[in-house]
Amino acid sequence: MDLIAQIDRWGHLTPDKAAHLSGERVLTYGELLTRSNTVAAWLDAELGESRAPIAVHGHKEPEMLVAFLGAVKSGRPYVPIDISIPTQRVERIVANAGAALTLTPARVDAIVAEGRTYLPRQAASGDPFYILFTSGSTGEPKGVIVTHANLSHFVSWMLAEQHFATGEETFLNQAPFSFDLSVMDLYLSLVTGGTLFSITKDHVANLKSLYEAFRVSGLTTWVSTPSFAQMCMIERSFTETMIPTLRRFLFCGETLAPETASQLLERFPQAEVWNTYGPTEATVATTSVRITREVVKKWSPLPVGAAMPGTRVVILDEKMERVSEGERGEVVIAGPNVSPGYLGRDDLTAKAFFTLDGARAYRTGDWGRERETQIFFEGRMDSQVKVNGYRIELGDLEANLRALPEIADAVVLPVEKQGRIDALAAIVVLAVEKTGSDFAFTAQLKARLGERLPAYMIPRKFLYVDAFPMTANGKADRRKLAELLG
Ligand code: AMP
Repeated sequence: MDLIAQIDRWGHLTPDKAAHLSGERVLTYGELLTRSNTVAAWLDAELGESRAPIAVHGHKEPEMLVAFLGAVKSGRPYVPIDISIPTQRVERIVANAGAALTLTPARVDAIVAEGRTYLPRQAASGDPFYILFTSGSTGEPKGVIVTHANLSHFVSWMLAEQHFATGEETFLNQAPFSFDLSVMDLYLSLVTGGTLFSITKDHVANLKSLYEAFRVSGLTTWVSTPSFAQMCMIERSFTETMIPTLRRFLFCGETLAPETASQLLERFPQAEVWNTYGPTEATVATTSVRITREVVKKWSPLPVGAAMPGTRVVILDEKMERVSEGERGEVVIAGPNVSPGYLGRDDLTAKAFFTLDGARAYRTGDWGRERETQIFFEGRMDSQVKVNGYRIELGDLEANLRALPEIADAVVLPVEKQGRIDALAAIVVLAVEKTGSDFAFTAQLKARLGERLPAYMIPRKFLYVDAFPMTANGKADRRKLAELLG
């Protein structure tokens, strides 16, 4: 059964059950089924033969799920775009995607009100299911194509490994739908007839309301970045008493610190803690390991686990040959979960994707090592960073800074605290005279940058210099610049 059929069956079996909870709003499986069918019928009538992607712009509204499934049911992939992304970047994503049109929650409601009849169509496994845009090193976001087959492979693996209680799980949805972490909770929930509990921006703005919501959530499966769980742990009452139903934490997207895992095991003794690892280009996650007290005692840093069945994770040297066990190299993923590549960017696709022993393979750009069948993540080979779980190319930020007329040149560096990236700092050569105080001028620059980039990408610190120190080959000397940050 394909993924859509697996989801639709709940519309027939349990039509009144909540598929999605978002703030005060509830979407049932019955509504999801009929509304997504109507959207699919409308898209077919509107767009005819065109299979161009459908941009879906919104936040955590139930209409987002309706639009995603409506697009896929009509044979078109969707491009999720969160409202936190500023208009200029949204426009670039929509243009790069070649999107046929953009659905918003209001537009979905208007379409649903028309109530059209849907003629089901069968997707081919190689058809794109969604396209996720991530930070690209030149300042242009790049769209990762994920097919039906890619997503099915990921979902089947997680179902086999995690033994979810069919029809009885409530999944936490922390990440906005424009990040692939959200794919983990969204589709595992919908395929198993569970309830997706979305954290909204209002919850994040008022943490007290978030904890109140947790108390009555009935959450069973927690899906988030480790950073988000760490933030929740600042609240002392974030324990099993707050969420007595919680049975597992699934983490992905950034390093899970042993201390975070230990504290969670202590606060939620009935819950399992899992570390999973993988890039968007290999569909959400590729490796996993349950982090028990024994694992924490044995390894620091923690492993990211072993590859899912049917997929290989190998460590290669610069000649693309396998290194011996325990040696460092690049993490390469090969298998049916690996994406066909970047939309309309054959140049970028050719650089990162290749064929390894007959399987589609992706060079992650991650340093890694294998020990006792476990993969260990050891940082990036390039200037991609994770800040609070968000994937950012420093080159993307630098290009967008340089695009401001006030800036002649810019270098962005990560600021580390206790071994993890805490913030970003921009070191800037100005093209204009600084006006007013440093504080006011920086606030102005941040606001201008905020018109081009989402808030999570804006550097916290700005430092102004007259010129960059240069390396022998004429590039800005990042090491010397890092010293300036102290
Ligand atoms: P994204 O495409 O946003 O999921 O980011 C993928 C990148 O996040 C990987 O290539 C790694 O650099 C990093 N990453 C993902 N999962 C983990 C993990 N469990 N531990 C450490 N880093 C991770």
